[in-house]
Amino acid sequence: MGLFARKKTVFVDSDILVIGGGMAGCGATYESRYWGRDLKIVCVEKANIERSGAVAQGLYAINCYMGMQWDENQPEDHVRYARNDLMGLVREDLGYDIARHVDSTVHKFEEWGLPIMKDPETGRYLREGKWQIMIHGESYKPIVAEAARKAATEVYNRIMVTHLLMDNTKLNRVAGAVGFNVRTGDFYVFRARAVIVSAGGASHIFKPRAVGEGMGRTWYAPWSSASAYALPIRVGAKMTQMENRIVLTRFKDGYGPVGAYFLHLKTYTQNAYGEEYESKWYDHTKELVGDYVDRHPVPTCLRNHAMLEELKAGRGPIRMVTTEAFQDPHKEQVGWENFLGMTIGQAVVWASQNIDPKHTNPELTTSEPYVMGSHATCSGAWASGPEDYAPAEYQWGYNRMMTVEGLFGAGDTIGGTAHKFSSGSFTEGRIAGKAAVNYVGELGNDRPQISEVEYEDLKKTIFQPLETYKVGRNEIVAGTVSPSYMLPMHGLQRLEKIMDEYVGGISAHYTTNQPLLTRGLELLGMLKEDLAYLGAEDLHQLQRAWELQHRVLASECVTQHTMFRTETRWPGYYYRADHPKLDDTDWHCFTLSQYDQESGKWEMEKAPVYHIVD
Ligand SMILES: Cc1cc2nc3c(=O)[nH]c(=O)nc-3n(C[C@H](O)[C@H](O)[C@H](O)COP(=O)(O)OP(=O)(O)OC[C@H]3O[C@@H](n4cnc5c(N)ncnc54)[C@H](O)[C@@H]3O)c2cc1C
Repeated sequence: MGLFARKKTVFVDSDILVIGGGMAGCGATYESRYWGRDLKIVCVEKANIERSGAVAQGLYAINCYMGMQWDENQPEDHVRYARNDLMGLVREDLGYDIARHVDSTVHKFEEWGLPIMKDPETGRYLREGKWQIMIHGESYKPIVAEAARKAATEVYNRIMVTHLLMDNTKLNRVAGAVGFNVRTGDFYVFRARAVIVSAGGASHIFKPRAVGEGMGRTWYAPWSSASAYALPIRVGAKMTQMENRIVLTRFKDGYGPVGAYFLHLKTYTQNAYGEEYESKWYDHTKELVGDYVDRHPVPTCLRNHAMLEELKAGRGPIRMVTTEAFQDPHKEQVGWENFLGMTIGQAVVWASQNIDPKHTNPELTTSEPYVMGSHATCSGAWASGPEDYAPAEYQWGYNRMMTVEGLFGAGDTIGGTAHKFSSGSFTEGRIAGKAAVNYVGELGNDRPQISEVEYEDLKKTIFQPLETYKVGRNEIVAGTVSPSYMLPMHGLQRLEKIMDEYVGGISAHYTTNQPLLTRGLELLGMLKEDLAYLGAEDLHQLQRAWELQHRVLASECVTQHTMFRTETRWPGYYYRADHPKLDDTDWHCFTLSQYDQESGKWEMEKAPVYHIVD
């Protein structure tokens, strides 16, 4: 008897199923309860919502707050800012929708106990920058999770969702999800009338700078494993802007954030010879992207670009000049606290490398690329927009519903809406939750049906790596190498190498071209075939196996999009060497993809960008 046949199956019914209890998932759970008092709202999370997701270890700033109560910014200003930063291409309807609601989210956080720093003179929230406010945020996630816990009918922690289930009675309608408990191995079948995917972004699809024993150290959370993309992709939801991966300038080796340093401490960068270098690359950059280089603030990717060019010219390392600001004891304290509340690892790295920023200017570096939808980048699912604001072409259903009926998304999951960050992701979760309640209400007695054959087949597929390992382990030829299975770590390293070398990772200076992408897709195809031979020693490795499956599918999507967009829209994030310039004539548009799981083929198309805000 196969190992999988002994696993208990647990059935859970819900009206609204929220997958992923990070910032967006907590927002979705909270708001679903507000509008759906009598509904059964279930949140399922692969870790524990108390400390899960990208905000797990806390944050030092909330990066998206308008300050409308003090007339500091209006939602339209934020749309202009995000549009500028993304070189013209954002879903302005979705961005506006978040911006107009985000302040109320932040006020709730404060009400729930999040300490927000105040300007002693004005009494207003203390600004780190135009959009950022400073918080004592070590407990940010537990505070937000408490609200979600109280709102949910049930929270299921430690369950990794592997697949969505589709309705038996209606084409292209979602009906639930399946997954397994990473501690007990129980198989879970979630039946739902609406599903909200809020499973975070994707790290570890490109080879990280830190390898070997330091491999877990990445900027984006190592447990962000692309489920947010793979789950909808597999059931045919359209994705957008998946080529728009993000590369971050951060303190070297610890990925410590630089925002508070630039904005609050007013530190600045210089090359190895103490020279300012950004202005040197102005003419060169203008050649590539035209007027975008003159925009204020300079788009994030273009600032990376200047640094990368300076490094290629051999004038690295680039350093952050901290020695001046740190003479002021207040600024020195803020500089350290910035890490202690959010990235303790950076403080440890500096201590271990004899770097005291008061006396030594620390090095900066650019990260490996990540895929996500909530930072200075906007990869994700293609979603219907708000009824009162979205152009007709962007409205085919309820707000934040994907192109699959009943399937909603928020946070890193949804594409086209950069710069939402933690507060905007929670807000988008609230928007999706409210829309899902409306959707469920209008379904009435119509309840999606799942197929027993389908979930039983999935059960076999999901637990197969345990069986494969058990059978094949006797043939181990050396250490962990077996002729009949591939361990998740081996598969991950193979994926990262392909993406790094062919799709524009660090060792290729973020550069690719059509022949490289073509070969990359061939190699990804071979890797996909070999995933059938994944072997998992235990439940932990089984989780790794399914995280790898999700990463590979999302990576294929990234590669298809990168191939489709024949221009270099975001130099500093990646370069198409065969199309080195920004091309507004042909590519001032969104890229969309749709995957067909039967044939394994992708369809690509363009969608118009509507500028709603002047
Ligand atoms: C280093 C770093 C610094 C940041 N700094 C700031 C900052 O200063 N200010 C700011 O406002 N924002 C900041 N952000 C951004 C902010 O954290 C994100 O925008 C936000 O967390 C995105 O919300 P999300 O819900 O989409 O993803 P997450 O919050 O990451 O939540 C995703 C959740 O889904 C779960 N999950 C994933 N896959 C599955 C699966 N298959 N089954 C079940 N559950 C699953 C995860 O465990 C996780 O709990 C930072 C992020 C990082 C990584």
